[in-house]
Amino acid sequence: MTIDPFARILVTNDDGIQAPGLKVLEKIARQLSKDVWVVAPEVEQSGAGHSLTLRRPLRMRRLAAKRFAVDGTPTDSVLLALKVAMRKHRPTLVLSGVNRGANLGEDMTYSGTIAAAMEATLLGVPAIALSQEVVTGEAVAWGTPAAIAPGLVRRLVASGWPADVLINVNFPHRAANAVVGTAVTRQGRRKLGEQIEGRIDTRGEHYYWIGPVRGEDGDPAGTDLEAIRQGKVSVTPLHLDLTHGATRAKLAEDLA
Ligand code: MN
Repeated sequence: MTIDPFARILVTNDDGIQAPGLKVLEKIARQLSKDVWVVAPEVEQSGAGHSLTLRRPLRMRRLAAKRFAVDGTPTDSVLLALKVAMRKHRPTLVLSGVNRGANLGEDMTYSGTIAAAMEATLLGVPAIALSQEVVTGEAVAWGTPAAIAPGLVRRLVASGWPADVLINVNFPHRAANAVVGTAVTRQGRRKLGEQIEGRIDTRGEHYYWIGPVRGEDGDPAGTDLEAIRQGKVSVTPLHLDLTHGATRAKLAEDLA
């Protein structure tokens, strides 16, 4: 007997249970499945990465039959979803997002959106992270993932991917009918935190903001960054095994 990959979808995010992007993703999920659950952080956890809460108790608040808020990270949310809230109703697919802001290049390890998908993957449930590019001062193009994601997720799931891989999807900041197409990409290089803004508070103490400016380097050909720049939806398969094969082989030789 084959299991329907859309039998039960868990929706989560890192922007929090109140985020507009979560509502967008719920709508997308409901087009794909009759059984949609939501377990998401109480408050925004952007930049939380793959962190776990280990030094204080975790609370999970039940908001409706299939809706829970966790006072922890996206990883905590997925763990509590699978091990507690959905223990007897294991999801067949996890969707994380839709994040307010793209997750491109080296955002991978900082992103709570991607981390939630990683956690699901580690727990054996296929997962897709979805993010929407934003441009400061402009309205978020939520209509774009709303229009494109249901069909795209169907095609991705039909194609399938290995058990230790997750799919990272980014939508460009433009209307759905102006999207140029879909590109299957590789992770580009663009580092957050190139600019640190130092300020002085009302008590004369220094404080800092990690700035939005990002340095971009490396060959852009075929990257997620390039696809988004070209107005395409970017689809990047990410591997949980971070081992670098060539270096491993060289070190094994050099250290022999
Ligand atoms: Mn976020």
